[in-house]
Amino acid sequence: MKKRKKRRVARHAPALACPFCGEAEELFVDAGGGDAQVYTEDCAVCCRPRVVHVEPGDEPGEVRVWLERGE
Ligand SMILES: [Zn+2]
Repeated sequence: MKKRKKRRVARHAPALACPFCGEAEELFVDAGGGDAQVYTEDCAVCCRPRVVHVEPGDEPGEVRVWLERGE
């Protein structure tokens, strides 16, 4: 018997720590942009540019999100 997994909503991601100031912030991914995205978003706390990476997750509709320091 297969285990049933709860499907996650693609536009919501868990809180991620800012690569500059370490402040955790919830990121909302725009699902309309697709499962694979890279965009820059300024931190609400330290205002420095963070590169947001979005990749398809293991489950349909699931995404992996991580942050990188921008320029
Ligand atoms: Zn920050």
